[in-house]
Amino acid sequence: MAKEPGGVIEAVEPGSLGARIGLKPGDRLASINGQPLRDVIDVQFYGAEEVLELVVERAGREMLIKAERDYGEELGLAFVHPTFDVDIRRCANDCDFCFVKQNRRGMRRSLYVKDDDYRYSFLFGNFVTLTNLSGDDWRRLEEQRLSPLYVSVHATELELRRRFLGRNDAPDVMEQLRRLAGLGIEVHTQVVLVPGLNDGEHLVRTLTDLAVLYREPVASVGVVPIGLTRYHQGRCRTYTADESRAILEQIDEWRAENRRERGYRFVYPSDEWYLVAGQEVPPASEYDGFPQVENGVGMVRQLLDEWEELKANLPPGDLRPATLVCGTLIAPVLARIVAELNRLQDKADAGWQVVPVVNQFFGPVTTVSGLLTGQDVITALQGHPLGQIVLLPSAMFAGQYGAGSASPGTTLDDMHITEIAARLGVPVAMAGTAAEALDLLG
Ligand code: SF4
Repeated sequence: MAKEPGGVIEAVEPGSLGARIGLKPGDRLASINGQPLRDVIDVQFYGAEEVLELVVERAGREMLIKAERDYGEELGLAFVHPTFDVDIRRCANDCDFCFVKQNRRGMRRSLYVKDDDYRYSFLFGNFVTLTNLSGDDWRRLEEQRLSPLYVSVHATELELRRRFLGRNDAPDVMEQLRRLAGLGIEVHTQVVLVPGLNDGEHLVRTLTDLAVLYREPVASVGVVPIGLTRYHQGRCRTYTADESRAILEQIDEWRAENRRERGYRFVYPSDEWYLVAGQEVPPASEYDGFPQVENGVGMVRQLLDEWEELKANLPPGDLRPATLVCGTLIAPVLARIVAELNRLQDKADAGWQVVPVVNQFFGPVTTVSGLLTGQDVITALQGHPLGQIVLLPSAMFAGQYGAGSASPGTTLDDMHITEIAARLGVPVAMAGTAAEALDLLG
């Protein structure tokens, strides 16, 4: 639904240009230098001029504010929502494995929204398919050069990609990537592999095609296995441990060749392949700066390396005993860290413990920590001595715009962290890194 023009300011950074010219939380910034504002990208783009004329609405009155920017001065504005015209652009595809189709019934409405908005790709690194770009969108990309973008390729063969996306008129992604290259826009791509659909020879073709576009515009290719829940009604399945090892071997050949020819591995398997295959993740040097860590590519390596640094400076014996909760996929990695922590803390049998939670809500096929629910956590922890605090993975909880945009601190089954703590009878906190976890225990 169309909204009023412009965006509502949530906060103004002290000392910024916005503060100097008297902007306040609650003001609606409608236009800059005559340009109506569709989102925060427009604010950044049009607000980068030295001389500004802002149209601002405050308490029903419109004001014109003129400003000249001092050297290096930022507008310093945070907005209630990043997009002002529509909440988020909807996806027009119909993938067999779409997570929205795999949701349980009766969850909050926002969890059934399929988004595919190139602006969120630029702002937050969301992967998009580029199948809903209009002529205006392309003109905007040309004008504003929104770079980098994150694109779900899945397959470069046109018919196969259309089948994958459930969309007969999906445009040719290779043509689109070449067009982005012409605009000087860098692209990180992902290939979600589905057994028997786009792996094998199709993966070879996809990686071959993307390698031709190396750097112009494709900066990296993340290869990720399909994720399923028990509510999947299609014909997809997940990869076995043996199949995961075979995929890793296949991709490793590409990585080695890219390394030789280009100096970068260019293709990066997500952590899940290694965890399912029971293999150690590669060293940090093989991630070339971790271009897709938010996509689950290299998170485990970063965690292990972070722990290596932290443990050298651990205060002996004065961390609170705690329970660390996680999904079953990452549990062996965390169990290694916790065993070492207990040893260093001289508490071999007490102190820290890891409790892997089998996902009952979405089914045991769903193994990642980010899809655990509050009820499953509570059920799994019953009967366990919990120590002085329970740490839950941050990924379980909604962020401002993530995980279905519930209020922050809320799980997928709409349980707030305070309710989980009350039901468990111990303090509960969320941690996203080893450092955050150790801080909570000090
Ligand atoms: S592109 Fe993403 S949101 Fe759209 S149908 Fe496929 S999986 Fe769902």
